[in-house]
Amino acid sequence: MDDQGRRLLVIGGGAAGMSAAMAARRLQTNREIVVLERGSHVSFVLCGLPYFVSGIVKNLDSLIVYTPEYFRAERNIDVRTGHEVKRIDAQSATVEFVDVATREKGVISYDKLVITAGAQPIVPSIRGLALPGVFALRSLEGGAAIKDFLARRPVRRAAIIGAGYIGLEMAESLKTAGARVTMIEASDSVLPGSEPEIAALIEEEVRRQGVELLKQQLALSIESNAAATVDRVTTDSGDVEADMVLIAAGARPDTAIARETGIGVGETGGIVTDEMMRTNIPDIYAAGDCAEARHLLTGRPIFLPLGTTANKQGRVAGENACGGHAVFPGILGSLAFRLFDIEVARTGLSRPGAGGGLRANQRRRPLPFALAVLPRRPDAHRQAGRRQAQRPAPRRPDGRQWHGGEAHRRRRRGAAREDGGVRPRAPRPGLRAPSWDGMGGHSARRPGATAASGCRRLGASATPGIPAHQTTTFRGKLAV
Ligand SMILES: Cc1cc2nc3c(=O)[nH]c(=O)nc-3n(C[C@H](O)[C@H](O)[C@H](O)COP(=O)(O)OP(=O)(O)OC[C@H]3O[C@@H](n4cnc5c(N)ncnc54)[C@H](O)[C@@H]3O)c2cc1C
Repeated sequence: MDDQGRRLLVIGGGAAGMSAAMAARRLQTNREIVVLERGSHVSFVLCGLPYFVSGIVKNLDSLIVYTPEYFRAERNIDVRTGHEVKRIDAQSATVEFVDVATREKGVISYDKLVITAGAQPIVPSIRGLALPGVFALRSLEGGAAIKDFLARRPVRRAAIIGAGYIGLEMAESLKTAGARVTMIEASDSVLPGSEPEIAALIEEEVRRQGVELLKQQLALSIESNAAATVDRVTTDSGDVEADMVLIAAGARPDTAIARETGIGVGETGGIVTDEMMRTNIPDIYAAGDCAEARHLLTGRPIFLPLGTTANKQGRVAGENACGGHAVFPGILGSLAFRLFDIEVARTGLSRPGAGGGLRANQRRRPLPFALAVLPRRPDAHRQAGRRQAQRPAPRRPDGRQWHGGEAHRRRRRGAAREDGGVRPRAPRPGLRAPSWDGMGGHSARRPGATAASGCRRLGASATPGIPAHQTTTFRGKLAV
């Protein structure tokens, strides 16, 4: 193509960034591609972090699919770790960066730029955040710090602030690592925004496993003991004893550099792009957790930071930055995760999640929804398969959640549809799905990477002794 030989610059070497770089390389074999990453690693699998903390994943290397050396030697992609971008000058098409180790500054020009800066954890402004033993999990380094802390001292009691899917996964991990776990959730439900029936089942499982769950409680401070380490979390309803605290209160798009450049940021806090992942500034694209997506049902922007979306958006951005015409139409909000002895999946809009959102799309007829609830058991996937054969799923997964052995299969089916043809290839935490070349494609995966990453095939690891098989299906119409 025309742009052969000109420089594509990518900020960030996570799922979106390396997807963009690889898509560009596939399209243009001679193009100069440079990735600036402030951390020490690229092409990592953050979704495996809970399994690293619990010990299922034995070492952090297992979560790194490809090294910078691999990208340089095999893909001719110039990956520069330890390089933090400080400023973008769109007028001169240059980027200022600093070498994290030497603090030396530098400037690099670009012809096309893809921003994939990811997201930052939301940390409540409470006292005690700087105490040793307080963590937020958003990077490999964060996972390593938790693991190191667990290795250095016995953690008998752990508190998790936030009961979203990462908080829930970490509850299992920390319990497996030997801690007594208490979850502190400000809202009246785990997995906020999910169907009440599903949330109730998750809560039942969490409690059945011995995790204490405190809902509608606000963490006010983290207090230390005489040794200046974490002693307890104070909430508006009392104290929670803890030797360690994990903040899992969500994430927000990292858009600081984009904002300074005049790149448009939307109501969700993410960078606004069109379907080709172009920002409002010529030659600058954005993808992944730093960008927003469009919800296919409401037609409205949504911020749902997931690796699956980051991979697809990154690929589209990388292709288009190299003269391609790829499109990312939007997402349905599909999510699946494993929790102790159950599996949970959702796609589409939940009743609480729908709210008034559907009004943006008045021309649609009322949307059907259905929920299937299944315990996790060895043959759950086979039974799910039979049920699916008997009752074909509706063409659009408009508002559904699943829980149990069927979850993963359903999610993959929903995810395959949700992007209008951009195939899902991201690795799953605890569940297993096909992944792509930048993150560990089946054909070229680094030996041992996924095998040790905690990703498992459904049913293969189900725990015996789950109550007898039961299915609950909720059907109805979303009131819009
Ligand atoms: C514990 C955990 C579990 C998860 N589980 C799942 C899951 O089960 N399923 C799922 O789909 N998703 C999951 N996710 C989310 C998924 O990991 C993210 O959506 C995905 O990593 C986003 O990719 P990204 O490339 O947009 O951002 P990131 O992977 O965060 O990469 C952004 C990169 O940009 C770099 N960067 C930022 N600013 C600069 C700068 N100024 N200069 C240079 N470099 C910069 C950062 O260092 C980072 O490496 C999980 C996340 C976590 C933390």
